Amino acid sequence: MLPHSGSDPSFIPLAVTTLESLQTRLGKSWEPVLSLLREMQGADLPAEPQIDLLPPINRYLPRADHHSVIRDILWTLSSEVAADTDTTPIALRTMSLAYQLYAGRTMAAFRVHHALSLPLEQPSDFALYMRPMNRVANILFSWRGTKRFHSMFPSIAQFITRQLMHSGLSEREFYRAFRRRQFIAWLGLLYEILNPKVSLNMNIKPIVLLTVAERMIPPMEGRRVQVEWLSALVERGAVSTTSVDKLSTEQLFALRRAHVIWHAVKRRCMECRTKIADEVSPQRCGHCQRAIYCTKGCQAQHWATSHRDICKIWSIVNMRSNKPEIRQGMKALPIDVTSMFEE
Ligand SMILES: [Zn+2]
Ligand SMILES: [Zn+2]
Repeated sequence: MLPHSGSDPSFIPLAVTTLESLQTRLGKSWEPVLSLLREMQGADLPAEPQIDLLPPINRYLPRADHHSVIRDILWTLSSEVAADTDTTPIALRTMSLAYQLYAGRTMAAFRVHHALSLPLEQPSDFALYMRPMNRVANILFSWRGTKRFHSMFPSIAQFITRQLMHSGLSEREFYRAFRRRQFIAWLGLLYEILNPKVSLNMNIKPIVLLTVAERMIPPMEGRRVQVEWLSALVERGAVSTTSVDKLSTEQLFALRRAHVIWHAVKRRCMECRTKIADEVSPQRCGHCQRAIYCTKGCQAQHWATSHRDICKIWSIVNMRSNKPEIRQGMKALPIDVTSMFEE
């Protein structure tokens, strides 16, 4: 079973109050879900339904008729996050909790559907629930690098953790639902929280979630987000040719060669994305060894428009990643995801 990401039953009363006041303000009727939350609160249960608590927890799982209410709650809360007020961190936590009502039920349904006599959720159901969550991921992503992002760092990290932890649980289904471009903001956000200098009250490491997100993102988009992240680090002065030593082992790991993460990028031109046939040997950048091209023209174009700056940094990242102590550090990273998701 996946370790818990610090689910906190003591948060339920605050979530209930938050939803009640939103309900009044916006003239909503969320009562079935609010009752469920109040019942959970009274029952002294963990905020996240756990599979080993079944069957008693069975009755606290939302019923199918709760689903549209939970979705409405998620959309409403996403607008609260977008409004960017003092209560945004609470809105984020409440969103995680409301999402977990659904995800918890789904997790249970996947594993004990024979005992629950409930219809299994479909990938299209996941996709519906993910839309408001993705909206928030995109909002948070647009805040990266700002003071606001920094001041909300722990809340953002917890939001991502709670979200991705559940995504990993029934990965294949989620993967199908997310396939398209939905995971870009999540991967981008994870890169932002890889900084180990910021201490987070989480018992699951961002680096573990990174490997989950990497597997969910379409390969070409993954490579693009990785390059954009490096460019952003350079722009912010977080990394330069003289300061690449500042990168942590986690960050260097996240910057490993794209084709190692996403095998599909191995034979695609960096500039025009054309697939390069297996029998053709691609044009390769002699400096960084990472960028490949279909033609010299594409290589020249890419060098002139963007590669020149990144290439130097890639080369140093390559060099640093090859140092024995860094390789040792990478091996020690807790990234054996399969074992994390096993029961
Ligand atoms: Zn090309
Ligand atoms: Zn290069």
